[in-house]
Amino acid sequence: MNVILFGPPGAGKGTQSQHLVKKFNYFQVSTGDLLRIEIQNKTLLGNQISEIIGRGELVSDSIVDDLLNKIIKNEKYKNKIIFDGYPRTLSQAKELDKMLNENNQKIGCIIFLNVKRDEIINRIEGRLSCIKCGKILNKDINKEEINNHECGEENLVKRSDDNGKTIIKRFDTYMEVTKPVLQYYSTRQEFVEIDGSLKIPVISSKIEEMVIA
Ligand code: AMP
Repeated sequence: MNVILFGPPGAGKGTQSQHLVKKFNYFQVSTGDLLRIEIQNKTLLGNQISEIIGRGELVSDSIVDDLLNKIIKNEKYKNKIIFDGYPRTLSQAKELDKMLNENNQKIGCIIFLNVKRDEIINRIEGRLSCIKCGKILNKDINKEEINNHECGEENLVKRSDDNGKTIIKRFDTYMEVTKPVLQYYSTRQEFVEIDGSLKIPVISSKIEEMVIA
């Protein structure tokens, strides 16, 4: 089934997506990662969006919808996609329904990871991501795992948009623009809310239960 992992930046969507990828061979589709690849590769699109992402604002719906359309059409990913960080606007949510419908697919599970603003800000301030394997760790919580990280500690870096001012902007954008998406999904049978402040393995097992149900 296709899964949507939904929640504010720093809620743990990336961490839980990676867990599902390892355990059930899902494909993680993070629109944030797809956009960062465009920036790294200095493509025309990458140059257009780097300032927008740096300010913590959302990239236009048409840009992300186009990126997603290519993935949804690809037979390789059919019914095995975890949507991480998409949809983020009501228009994207409606477009996703349309794209899935056109490709004979649907959403099997919509998981909302709910975490409070203060905790989000602390988490993102300390967040490090591995540029090689994508592993996400926190410099204050995972000291031992950082020392023993298999790709080497030097590959664990802070994202350029993980700074105080941008974090607050991203959270506020989430509350303002993305909240309506929550309302759009919350009445659906496949919608589940999980307390995202629980321990990572506890959240993982709750998600596993839903995905295998
Ligand atoms: P993330 O890695 O999910 O925290 O996303 C990083 C940044 O990429 C966001 O702050 C937005 O600027 C942009 N972005 C990611 N996903 C979307 C989306 N679905 N719609 C618009 N902008 C997005």
